[in-house]
Amino acid sequence: MSEKRVRTRFAPSPTGYMHIGNLRTAIYTYLIAKKNGGDFILRIEDTDRERYVDGAVQRIYDTLNVCGLKWDEGPDVGGPVGPYIQSERMGIYKEYAEQLVRSGHAYYCFCTKERLDEMHRQQQEAKISNMMYDRRCRDLSEEEIQKNLAEGKSYVIRQKIPETGTTTFHDVLYGDITVDNATLDDQILLKADGLPTYNFANVVDDHLMGITHVVRGNEYLSSTPKYNLLYEAFGWDIPEYIHVEHIMRDSTHKLSKRDGDAYFGDFVEKGYLVPAIMNYIALLGWAPKGENEIFSLDELVQEFDIGGLSKAPAVFDPVKMKAINAEYIRRLSHDEFKALAMPYIRQTVKREDADFDVLLDALQPRTELLTDIPEKVDFIDEVPEYSDELYFNKKMKTNAETGLEALKMILPVLEGISDWNEETVHAALFAEIEKQGVKNGWMLWPLRTALSGKAMTPGGGVELCVILGKDESIKRVKAGIEKLSK
Ligand code: GLU
Repeated sequence: MSEKRVRTRFAPSPTGYMHIGNLRTAIYTYLIAKKNGGDFILRIEDTDRERYVDGAVQRIYDTLNVCGLKWDEGPDVGGPVGPYIQSERMGIYKEYAEQLVRSGHAYYCFCTKERLDEMHRQQQEAKISNMMYDRRCRDLSEEEIQKNLAEGKSYVIRQKIPETGTTTFHDVLYGDITVDNATLDDQILLKADGLPTYNFANVVDDHLMGITHVVRGNEYLSSTPKYNLLYEAFGWDIPEYIHVEHIMRDSTHKLSKRDGDAYFGDFVEKGYLVPAIMNYIALLGWAPKGENEIFSLDELVQEFDIGGLSKAPAVFDPVKMKAINAEYIRRLSHDEFKALAMPYIRQTVKREDADFDVLLDALQPRTELLTDIPEKVDFIDEVPEYSDELYFNKKMKTNAETGLEALKMILPVLEGISDWNEETVHAALFAEIEKQGVKNGWMLWPLRTALSGKAMTPGGGVELCVILGKDESIKRVKAGIEKLSK
């Protein structure tokens, strides 16, 4: 027997920004399809008009596109089982709901809102925790139903859950889960306006779209037995379920929008590179077999294995995410880094005559986040106010006094360099260090301090000289001498 072609779907609701938990679902969904040579489908689940946010569909497209998660079928690219926007599929569901009524797996319910409110009130009063529909319309006679319909009474269609017995479903991560049917609500499948509930639409759509693997957040775990009963009632194949855990801020709190870093866009804004974000998120709930944790999307496709997914809640670790980002930054070519870093450099550096290529090379290995850059280079236009204390360095045995001595030695050396570049500056300064018989740091620490007014800089004294250029370096060394001579 030939294996079914693997087809997965990412089914976001257009309710706002892309939460990284959703993006992770998209990544796993994509990886399962691509690993198996299958199809990755994008379906927009926009039936909940109250939560609909204008522009959110476009944001979903944009996010998936910048992440390289290319869908094979979807609203914009089409495909054989469209439409791929749920609100455009509205004609489809009624027929399937009625099919279930005919086969005895669903029924018309004519209960009014007032009656249901009253029922809920009573259940609340009786402190019933699992509030369910009391099934009043479940056993209406055919005549009653016809009479109500003839009178034009408004109705919904509800799922007829077996009263006794259990339902078992299988989840790849959780194994077999069995629930008592008595705990399951006769949920609404079709609403009074003829539109499906999410719980019904997703089953019908997954079947009609030939979906073989469903990856989603584990908030849907408790609804899954009801989905299974629907698949069985229709006689349809049940997909593989993979319910993934929430991403946690710590052991008790979910990563929520209040944390300011729950959305994909938050991380881009904070200076993370898109492939690094993807890489890190993929690791939140999935473990590769070997030691390596750095994977491009294509490498993830190779490496990915459903068996590596975990049902343990993944705790978001900003330190690790930054370390992964730094690794991605280090792996960029000079020109790639330049394209990304220059706009950040320009936030604090206006001058044109600095040697930006040397600056970029000094900056690249020292940058974890692109947004760290403006502060790291803010001395290039002007030396900030700084204290003489900055000349003190225990390890280098320097202080304001030795700093003055060193700067006085350095000044004529710099003035004597005619061809100003990294080699010549380096050679001249190290020749002086040797001539004076002092330690490197004794000479170079004060130089760096005078050039930058900062304790931490991208590169040491030699690089800073080259970045700033001859005139500016000499000017700053003179200013340092003057400052320490006071
Ligand atoms: N539209 C649902 C959501 O965004 C998707 C659930 C599912 O994948 O089945 O949460």
